[in-house]
Amino acid sequence: MAVRTGQQFLEGLKNDGREIWLDGELIQDVTTHPAFKGAAEHIAKLFDLQHKYPEIMTATCPETGEKFGITHLIPRSKEDIKRIRKAMKVWAEASVGLMGRSPDYMNTTFACFAGHADVWARRGNEQGARNMIAYQKYVRDNDLIMTHSIINPQVDRSVSEAEQGGGEVSLHKVGETEDSIIVRGARMLATLAPFADELTVYPGSDIRLQDKKYAICFAVPMNTPGLKFICRDSYSKERNNFDYPLSSRFDEMDAVVIFDDVHVPKDRVFMDGDTVGYSEVIGDGYWRNYIIFQAMNRALTKLEFAFGLGHMIADTTGVNAFDHVQEKLGEIWNMMEMTRAGVVAAEEGAFEVDGKGIWAPDDKPLIALRGLMPKWIPRATELLKVIGGGGYMLTPSLKDMNGPLANDITKYYQARNADAEQRIRLFRLGWDFIGSELAGRGDLYERFYLSDAYRMTALNYKVAEKEHAEMLVKQFLNEPVNELQATK
Ligand SMILES: Cc1cc2nc3c(=O)[nH]c(=O)nc-3n(C[C@H](O)[C@H](O)[C@H](O)COP(=O)(O)OP(=O)(O)OC[C@H]3O[C@@H](n4cnc5c(N)ncnc54)[C@H](O)[C@@H]3O)c2cc1C
Repeated sequence: MAVRTGQQFLEGLKNDGREIWLDGELIQDVTTHPAFKGAAEHIAKLFDLQHKYPEIMTATCPETGEKFGITHLIPRSKEDIKRIRKAMKVWAEASVGLMGRSPDYMNTTFACFAGHADVWARRGNEQGARNMIAYQKYVRDNDLIMTHSIINPQVDRSVSEAEQGGGEVSLHKVGETEDSIIVRGARMLATLAPFADELTVYPGSDIRLQDKKYAICFAVPMNTPGLKFICRDSYSKERNNFDYPLSSRFDEMDAVVIFDDVHVPKDRVFMDGDTVGYSEVIGDGYWRNYIIFQAMNRALTKLEFAFGLGHMIADTTGVNAFDHVQEKLGEIWNMMEMTRAGVVAAEEGAFEVDGKGIWAPDDKPLIALRGLMPKWIPRATELLKVIGGGGYMLTPSLKDMNGPLANDITKYYQARNADAEQRIRLFRLGWDFIGSELAGRGDLYERFYLSDAYRMTALNYKVAEKEHAEMLVKQFLNEPVNELQATK
C-alpha cells in the first residue's frame, strides 16, 4: 500500500490509542470529533489526490517497481525537483496555502535526511544513519504522515536547553534497555499531531557540547505508550463550511508533546548523545532548502488566493474603479509575482550537493523570501481589510440566511454583480482569511514555523557573499583623486 487512499488514512487514525487532549477531554476518535473531523477529511482528500493525479503525485521505486508519493522522492536531478514542486503545488492549492504542514513538509525533510545520510553517520554513528535510511523507506512505502517536534518549551530562553526548569523540562534521555532508549520531558509544538501517524524528533536549535542527554533524534508511532499531546483551542469553530469555509476544514492543530518515560526502539534512534552532530544536522542546508522550498510554494499559493480574493471583493462592490484600490491590488500582485520568481529561480538554480548525486534548489532566493514572507502575508491581509471595508461585517450566518429574515437579507445584502448569498459567501471567506482565529494563527505560523524569521534574516546577512558588493563600493574608495577635483 505504497500510495494510501483517503479512506485508508482515516481508518488508520481511528481509535488507535493515541493520547490527544483538547479542552480537558481525551479525544477517542479524531476522525469523528467535531473539532478535528473537518481537517481529517481534508487530509484524506490529499491522499485521494495522489490517486486522482498519479502522473503528478507519484513516482516509481526503482528497487520494487511500486508507486509511492513523489514528495518522498530523494531528488537526483533538477527534473526531480520540478516534479516534486508540481506535486507540492497540487497539495498547497487544496488548502489555498493554509495548511503549512501538509505531509510534503515532512516527507521532503526525511527524503533529504536519508539522501544525505553521511551527515548523520559522522563520529561513529553509522547505525543511526542506517536507521534513518530504513525509516525513510518505511514511511515512504507505507505512505505515513509525520509530525515533528524540534523545539523545547519556552521556560527561559536566556539559558541553555539543559537548564530549562532545572533540567527536567526539555526532552532528554533518562535510561536505556537492551532494545530501547527511554526519554522524558516535553517539546513545544507538533503541528498536525492529531492526524499524523508518526512523531519525529530532531534538532531545532544548537546545544552545548556537554549536554549529551539532550542530543537525541528519533521517531515513534503516535500511539506509543507515554506520549501525550495537549492541543491548543480548536479554531475549526465546529461550524459548517458556509459560516467558516476555511476554519471548518484547514485547522491543522498545534500540540505540546509530553514524553512520560517513552521507550524508543533502538532501530528508530538516529542520534544519541552526539552534541556536535546535533548542531551539524541543523547546519546542513540541504533539508532546510527543501522545507523552505515547500513553504514558499505554499506561500505563493496563499498570495495567489489573496489576490483572487481582493480582486473579487473589489469587483463585487465596485471599488476596483478607484485607483488607490487598484494600487493595493497591484501591491498584492507584486508580492505574488516576486514569490513566484523566487521559487522559479530556486528551481532553475538547483545544484548537485557536494558531487553526491543528490540535488537541492538554490537556497538564496528561498531564504530571502523566508525573511520577507512574515511581512508580506500580514501586509496582504492588511490590504484586504482596506479593500473590503465594513463589508466583512455584512456577514449573516447560514442560520440567518435560512431564518425569518431571509427576504430582508436577499434584498439588503445584494451587491453590484452578486446576489446576497454570493456576496455573503465571498465576504465570509475573506473574513476567515484575514480575521478569524485561524487567520491569526496563520499570521503567527508565517513568522515562526521554522525558527523565527528575524534571526534567520540576521543570519542571511552574516552568511551572505559580500565580495562582489564590496568590490562595487571599493572601486570608488581606492581610486586616485582626479585633477579637476584636486584643483577645486
Ligand atoms: C503556528 C506554529 C506552529 C508550529 N509548529 C511547530 C511544529 O510543528 N514543530 C516544531 O517543532 N515547532 C513548531 N513551532 C515552533 C517554532 O519552531 C517556534 O515557534 C520557533 O522556533 C521560535 O521559537 P519560540 O516560539 O520558542 O520563540 P522564542 O525563541 O521564545 O522567541 C520569542 C522572541 O524572542 C526572540 N529571541 C529568542 N531567543 C533569542 C536570542 N537568542 N537572540 C535574539 N532574539 C531571541 C525571537 O526573535 C522572538 O522574537 C510552531 C510555531 C507556531 C507559531
